[in-house]
Amino acid sequence: MNPVFADLPTTVFETMSRLARQHGAVNLGQGFPDDPGPLDIRRAAADAVFDGWNQYPPMMGLPELRQAVADHYGRIQNLALSADDVMVTSGATEALAGALLALIEPGDEVVLFQPMYDAYLPLVRRAGGIPRFVTLKPPHWDFSDEDLARAFSPRTRVVLFNSPLNPTGTVFGRAALERLARFCTAHDAVALCDEVWEHVTFDRAGHIPMMSLPGMRERTVKVGSAGKIFGLTGWKVGFTVAAPALMRVLSKAHQFLTFTTPPNLQSAVAYGLGKPAEHFDAMRSGLQRSRDRLAAGLAERGFAVLPTAGTYFLNVDLAPLGVTDDVGFCERLVAQEGVAAVPVSAFYAEDAVRSVVRFCFAKADATLDAALERLDGAA
Ligand code: PMP
Ligand code: GLN
Repeated sequence: MNPVFADLPTTVFETMSRLARQHGAVNLGQGFPDDPGPLDIRRAAADAVFDGWNQYPPMMGLPELRQAVADHYGRIQNLALSADDVMVTSGATEALAGALLALIEPGDEVVLFQPMYDAYLPLVRRAGGIPRFVTLKPPHWDFSDEDLARAFSPRTRVVLFNSPLNPTGTVFGRAALERLARFCTAHDAVALCDEVWEHVTFDRAGHIPMMSLPGMRERTVKVGSAGKIFGLTGWKVGFTVAAPALMRVLSKAHQFLTFTTPPNLQSAVAYGLGKPAEHFDAMRSGLQRSRDRLAAGLAERGFAVLPTAGTYFLNVDLAPLGVTDDVGFCERLVAQEGVAAVPVSAFYAEDAVRSVVRFCFAKADATLDAALERLDGAA
């Protein structure tokens, strides 16, 4: 058995959702909306099943979805793409796993920013990559040239970068992206950019795709997910966008990982991507209202809420309350107060931050209010 996987604990999201069920808790742990998703897109998926879209679609994805992804990113991010630059995957997870398998040779170094989405490190290790960490800390979660200089080396092959960042809600601006792009170019590294939260940004923060920076078009693999674009997290329809030279090798990994993704869901996502800008604006403002409702309620109850500019998540720093064991805090919270959250230390490979807890606010007002009521006196 391979020790990378044999020795892994169960993912924190599964663990917290199980505890939430066990204790009848309000689940603000795992990141998924309690809204069932846009009705017309769900109907399009159902119609596609009845219309007979039930056999293997083409390996690279339905042509109409590949074109819809290219057009969508052209419209909202000003990227000049063709359908040939797009491959449909079974969620961002498959896109990331495939890219790491395709791009890394055993012994290659991979730069990772922690806190990081929990799938990254096991996938990098299983692909034979050697992780090099840039460690981000609250409240700003930023990084400097010196941080990058410590992590990059002549053996750096891939940088795995996530913006907007799960779990912190940081949306990295142009200066940070340019800093990273300079290091990628200087080290001839590929930027594997997990941009699944690109549509979920608040206030004035706008997502900047790494691929749009000078010199990065040919060395960026952009990963997106309909799960986050439409709040349909169970659908697992993702996309990889890359220039032809990279796409050739990425498609080889994809063909033996999943080969295809359910055609009815692809067809419905193609339809959804054509929605006007107002649809995405409305989604963002609804989520922003939920963020503000939970943030205000938590602050009223004495929690130090950290700013969040994107994703479904906000974080509280428990250090001012003297808490230094976020895992123990979350275990008590779910069992005693009946609210599930996620300890942010689960997103670190090393013992760097142990006082931050993540809450998902992509919920109905009644769910957020029920959680807040239970949190009276918890701080
Ligand atoms: N990357 C990040 C940063 C995520 O937050 C998630 C899911 N929450 C994923 C990847 C996985 O996306 P998918 O469900 O499309 O596989
Ligand atoms: N991405 C979601 C989160 O961060 C959960 C994904 C999962 O359950 N693996 O909560």
